[in-house]
Amino acid sequence: MKKLFFSLPLMFLVGGCSKQPAMQSSPATSTPTAAAKPVSGPFSSQELQEFVALNPIDTHTHIYQSSPIFFAMFDRLNLHILDILVDMDNANPDNAIWNDHAKERAAAWGVVHNSAGHASLCTTFDPFKFNQPGFSKGAIHEINQDFARGAVAIKIWKNIGMELKDAKGNYILPDNPIFEPIYKDIAAQHKTMISHVADPNSLWEAPNPASPDYSYYMENPEWYMYKQPNPVSKEQILAARDHILEENPNLRMVGAHLGSMEANFPELAQHLDRYPNFAVDLAARMPYLMQQPRADIIAFITKYQDRLIYATDNEFFPTDDAQKVALVWETQYANDWRFLATNDTLVEQYSGRTVQGLDLPQSILRKLYHDNAVTWFPGILSSAH
Ligand SMILES: [Zn+2]
Repeated sequence: MKKLFFSLPLMFLVGGCSKQPAMQSSPATSTPTAAAKPVSGPFSSQELQEFVALNPIDTHTHIYQSSPIFFAMFDRLNLHILDILVDMDNANPDNAIWNDHAKERAAAWGVVHNSAGHASLCTTFDPFKFNQPGFSKGAIHEINQDFARGAVAIKIWKNIGMELKDAKGNYILPDNPIFEPIYKDIAAQHKTMISHVADPNSLWEAPNPASPDYSYYMENPEWYMYKQPNPVSKEQILAARDHILEENPNLRMVGAHLGSMEANFPELAQHLDRYPNFAVDLAARMPYLMQQPRADIIAFITKYQDRLIYATDNEFFPTDDAQKVALVWETQYANDWRFLATNDTLVEQYSGRTVQGLDLPQSILRKLYHDNAVTWFPGILSSAH
C-alpha cells in the first residue's frame, strides 16, 4: 500500500484500508465563487458546539499511536472511535504495522486503554493461514480472546476475495466454507462483523483519470483487477458476501464503504431491503454521496436512516506527526458534518464542483452519528476498558 500524503490536492478513495480523501486543512473559509462562498477548514466554535451535541461516533478508523494530542482532540470533539485491525502482507513501509499483526494488535489495544473511554476495538483474524490445519479453530480462539477483552466487532478485509488464492490459482471468496465456523462464532458471541469486500467499480474498469480512485489503482496495481490475468469479478465477491448474509441471518454485518455498492444506490437499497441483518458505513465514500442529485440522496438517507452509520476510515500510524494528522482528522469531521448537517456550499474534491449541504434534520443526524453505531455495535460505548 502506498502511504497517502495529506498535502496532495486529490486524495485517493481506496488507499490505506480504503482511505477517505483528506479534506483541505487550510483554516476558515476560502475560494469564493459567483454563487456562494464554499466553507472548509476546521470547525468554527458554533459548528463545534452542534457537532459535539450529536455525541458523535466514528465506526471506521485505524489508529496505532497513543498520543495525548489525539486524546485531547477526542475530548474536544466529544468523539468516540472504533479502532479497526487490518491484517495485510503487502503494506508499504509507512504502514508497516499492518504487516505485523501482533504489533498492530498491541498498539490498538494501547490506544483503547489510554483513550479514557473514547475508543473501542474491532479485531480481525489472520486470513493468510487459511490453508493451514486448524485454521478456523485458531482464528476463533484468537478473536474470542479479543471479544473477552472487550472488542465489539471483527473485520474481514478485501484480501479475502481479491488476493488469497487456492493451489489452483482460484481466488478464495468470502463465503468459502473454511470461514463459516468463524462467522458462526461471531454470531454466537453476539458481535458484529464489518465486511470490507471488493472495491469501487473503477478497479475493474479501464484506466480513467477522472475516477476518484485513479491514483490508488495506478499506484497499487496488486489491487487493480482490470489488469489481473484471471480477475475475479466484483459481482462474484459481492454475491459471496450476500451468501454469508443469507446463511447467517443472526450475524449482524456492517458493510464498510457503503457495502462496496458506492456507485449504485438502487442496488444498495435492494440489499438493505432484502437483508435485515445488514447495515453500511459511510467511510471514505462521502464523495460518492456528494455526486448524487441532492434530492435523491436526501430521500435515500431518509428512507434508510436506521441502516447508515457515519464513519471516515481515518488513519493514524505510529510514525505520523500527531499535530498534523489531528488537524486533518478534525478538518474532515468538519467538512463531512457541513455536508450532512448544513446547507453550506462545499467543494467536492474530485470534480472541483460545488455542492450544497444536505441540511438533514437533527433526528436523522443523531441516528447517523450516534444511535445506529450503538445499535449495530452493541457495547461500543461501554466496552472500552
Ligand atoms: Zn479502513
